[in-house]
Amino acid sequence: MTDLLQLKDKTIVIMGIANERSIGWGVAQSLYKVGAKLVFTYRQERSQKKLLKLLEKNEFEAELVVECDVNNDESISNAFKQIGEKVGTIHGVVHSIAFAHAADLKGDFINTSREGYAFAQDTSAYSLIAVAREAKPYMTEGGSIIGMSYLGAQRVIPEYKVMGIAKSALETTVKYLASDLGPDNIRVNAISAGPIRTLAAKGIPSFNDILNEVKETAPLRRNVTQEDVGDMTLAMMSHLSRGVTGEIIYVDSGYNIMA
Ligand code: NAP
Repeated sequence: MTDLLQLKDKTIVIMGIANERSIGWGVAQSLYKVGAKLVFTYRQERSQKKLLKLLEKNEFEAELVVECDVNNDESISNAFKQIGEKVGTIHGVVHSIAFAHAADLKGDFINTSREGYAFAQDTSAYSLIAVAREAKPYMTEGGSIIGMSYLGAQRVIPEYKVMGIAKSALETTVKYLASDLGPDNIRVNAISAGPIRTLAAKGIPSFNDILNEVKETAPLRRNVTQEDVGDMTLAMMSHLSRGVTGEIIYVDSGYNIMA
């Protein structure tokens, strides 16, 4: 099976693990099992500490753990320079990052501030472009880039507001990047995950109602887990998905197909 995946000793950069509940941690577990070499980026020192503890507790050996704030071009450039110097070739990047100001997730959507809109876009959508640009020089053997999206990109999920717009931009960014990077055999896709209780999800009001609705109405009648998303990310990083680019892949128990 591992041979079919062709991920053993491949270097994958995972961006955005705040704690053991993070989707990025589910991804790390899936990729580590099949022998991928993992590089991690963090923004806050608090997340770095949690990540280092998680790695130690699970006896995971990271190739590198490096700071990267995706709101800052210099930070992204420095991070990928350090990664490139350490590993030489990058085969995959998992962008598991999003952020919006709490104020823009409350109240009426029409009151979204100009600054809050721009900040959510910058952090959650533009950053994928900046990251792909800095990673590309090291993706000399081709590879796979994955972003994490949510159904609020396509449908009005009242609680999601400005983040829904950012995810729409992220999904379209995936398609334009896929077109740009395809000739270099770099694939770019997004996974649209169902709701999962993480730190980021805490900012979404009525998150419990969203979880309950999926459980009651999605075809699989359950919510998805970090591991479900981790395993699909593994598939999208692997040789098995070599013909797929520019796609939004739903890992949501089928919820998105229901009227
Ligand atoms: P999470 O555990 O809170 O992870 C979010 C990560 O984003 C954190 O590690 C945070 O880093 C990072 N981040 C925020 N701003 C950043 C910046 N400027 N530079 C670098 N990193 C930054 O939440 P999660 O749910 O796993 O979110 C991961 C991705 O999945 C996001 O794109 C999210 O929108 C998406 N998603 C989540 C759900 C869900 O229901 N949870 C569903 C669909 C899609 P620090 O902790 O260091 O600040």
